[in-house]
Amino acid sequence: MNYISTRSTDETTYTSPEVILYGIAPDGGLFFPCKNVAFHSGFLKAIKKMPYYKRASAVLSYYLDDFEGDCLTESCKKAYSKSKFPLTPAPVSFVGRDCYLELYHGPTCAFKDLALQLMPRLLSMSIEKTATPCNAKILVATSGDTGKAALEGFKDVERVEITVFYPKDGVSEIQKKQMQTQKGKNVTVYGVDGNFDDCQTAVKAVFTSEKAIEALAENKKFFSSANSINFGRLVPQVAYYVSALADMNLSEGEKVNITVPTGNFGNILAAYMAKKAGMPIGKLICASNKNNVLTDFFNTGVYDKRREFYVTASPSMDILVSSNLERLLFLACGSNKTTEYMKSLKQNGFFSVDKDTLSLLQEDFEAFYADDRQAFEKIKEVYEKSNYLMDTHTAVASCGADMYKEKTGDQSRMLIVSTASPYKFAPDVCKALGLPVKDGFTACDELSTYTGTPIPKQINTVRTAKQRFTESISVSQIKSVAVK
Ligand SMILES: *Cc1c(COP(=O)(O)O)cnc(C)c1O
Repeated sequence: MNYISTRSTDETTYTSPEVILYGIAPDGGLFFPCKNVAFHSGFLKAIKKMPYYKRASAVLSYYLDDFEGDCLTESCKKAYSKSKFPLTPAPVSFVGRDCYLELYHGPTCAFKDLALQLMPRLLSMSIEKTATPCNAKILVATSGDTGKAALEGFKDVERVEITVFYPKDGVSEIQKKQMQTQKGKNVTVYGVDGNFDDCQTAVKAVFTSEKAIEALAENKKFFSSANSINFGRLVPQVAYYVSALADMNLSEGEKVNITVPTGNFGNILAAYMAKKAGMPIGKLICASNKNNVLTDFFNTGVYDKRREFYVTASPSMDILVSSNLERLLFLACGSNKTTEYMKSLKQNGFFSVDKDTLSLLQEDFEAFYADDRQAFEKIKEVYEKSNYLMDTHTAVASCGADMYKEKTGDQSRMLIVSTASPYKFAPDVCKALGLPVKDGFTACDELSTYTGTPIPKQINTVRTAKQRFTESISVSQIKSVAVK
């Protein structure tokens, strides 16, 4: 399979190892397969009896055919082993007529683990395959979730090092502890005296600084990124949708709708890729929190980031520029228009797609949003009615799913993507249930006592683990520690 940039003006194509190594195309676009991938008929049936890692490698082999089948299977086996995912990596829970795809049973209790346990192995193999003489240095600016998931994924992976920067007063108690206690010989973590934007801006500046790139090259390393614009993070996500459909025992001709709590548009794009590859998926419902720029986009065709930014109880969805939307635009209207739209977004803060493109997108997508109050009510309602506990992000999706059903009367089964453990956002989940609100770990105790569910081991071990990285630095020091 060859890949092309979403902003390409010529016929230049890239192999899958190149795509994973570069992360972003030289013209600033994102990589996407040149041809539509189509799973063979009977694919769902064929994978039904397989363990998760074999399902995943079967899906991967369609997109990453430059890697021999064996090395993909081996990577998936290590990434999705029992030691990383004590349950199966992507179980489906049946709650009334809805199904919840639980993607939070990995090392950091959030869905990013599914991609980040595998992607570093793909990167490591890509370095070998392209005979790159240097090792990769991953820089991550994080507001919490991504940093920890990346650290866990990259720890002790050959030929890669990772350095994470987080705002020292801008992450939750649990998140801070998760990062400060990180193990692994190739990891470094810094708290930064600044907010998330300061960290992100500084890291982006390092990535593009010629001086920094040179300094790093002297140490025989090159910069690379772990964020969700890398195609290597997208393919592992296609796999869990396919796996869920295999587990749902669909009847002949049945189609499933899927609701995804959306931030950067990576997760829902993976669901769309599964649909394009022939999976029996009906509508994709894009659920947002109060930062509802995507809801407006799918309803009006105008993407306008010139609006207030809200800090919500679903922080991993607090985003105004959803990078992966670019790939959807590319599929809908090609690289020329996509380039134009992205340029307008950068220069003017908005873009507006034409009527035909909007109609095309609306055939596959619907979009809704829910604020914190609605999400909290949903947590309480579903818990009291069905004894099913969900986190604040999943609750936004659950709201979106119900809004869709109400609007359309569509009776198809609904798969709701559950992106984080309720324990990861315990203080807000307690608040939603009307329990006394306490901080981090104490809220976990409260939640566990009230619901009779255990605190995940991954969170409990962090509680007593030894703190390794307590050093904090100023924003201006980011550059010098990044090139080490
Ligand atoms: C990252 C994240 C999301 C958003 O996923 P995207 O792929 O960025 O749309 C939703 N929920 C949780 C818990 C996350 O960590």
